[in-house]
Amino acid sequence: MIAKKKLENTFDAIVIGSGISGGWAAKELCEKGQKTLVLERGRMVEHIKDYPTAMLNQWDFKHRQTIPYKVKEENPILSKCYAYNEGTEHFFVKDKEHPYIQKKPFDWIKGYQVGGKSLMWARMTQRWNKEDFKSNKNNGIAIDWPIRYNDIAPWYSYVEKFAGISGDKDGLAQIPDGEFLHGIDNVDRRVLNQHLSEMITDGLLTKKHSMYYLQELNIN
Ligand SMILES: Cc1cc2nc3c(=O)[nH]c(=O)nc-3n(C[C@H](O)[C@H](O)[C@H](O)COP(=O)(O)OP(=O)(O)OC[C@H]3O[C@@H](n4cnc5c(N)ncnc54)[C@H](O)[C@@H]3O)c2cc1C
Repeated sequence: MIAKKKLENTFDAIVIGSGISGGWAAKELCEKGQKTLVLERGRMVEHIKDYPTAMLNQWDFKHRQTIPYKVKEENPILSKCYAYNEGTEHFFVKDKEHPYIQKKPFDWIKGYQVGGKSLMWARMTQRWNKEDFKSNKNNGIAIDWPIRYNDIAPWYSYVEKFAGISGDKDGLAQIPDGEFLHGIDNVDRRVLNQHLSEMITDGLLTKKHSMYYLQELNIN
């Protein structure tokens, strides 16, 4: 019995935290057949059920989606974050709940839940460029990084192909091209219509909003 329990609770890998980093590590480990345990300090977030504000309009919020002055005063660091508002506040860790000492200014924005900050981020997914990888060295900050752009480029490709990143190949050294999906101009109208209909059925979108998107994309 004890041996069986021990076997059940023995893992090839333990991942701490289920944000984008931990989530990806766990995905890779599982796909490679490793028995993986993910430990997450925050609450479970269930798709749809735990997005209580997703379908609200600005006028549905008590403070029209802004954070009241008193709450801002209680959360001076968090309040600097552009994305912190009445519609998103349930995903942000409050300053007074997890205070920390700043030796130098550092705005530490935290999301303690399954998915971590992947529930709060803006979803912009540019690659860093060659110079970014050398800027520590060039600016004399901390230590020179042991990796360069060329080391990581194949891994950018690996992740981009899985995630599906939209963009244009502009050939800019500052923002290197990636493995992009075709741009929004080429969006297949039928596919988009189907997707929007499914969102309406699932209660994630109103018909009015769906029309608005189609108008904005000029494809209605
Ligand atoms: C508002 C906002 C917008 C952003 N926009 C962009 C963007 O457009 N593009 C971009 O590239 N980046 C963006 N970022 C940054 C990006 O979201 C983060 O860099 C990324 O999500 C960090 O992922 P992570 O897995 O390393 O950390 P996190 O997402 O912070 O995950 C850490 C996880 O570990 C858990 N955890 C912590 N301590 C413990 C513990 N002791 N035991 C168990 N679990 C623990 C936490 O609860 C959390 O789930 C944005 C960030 C914010 C806040």
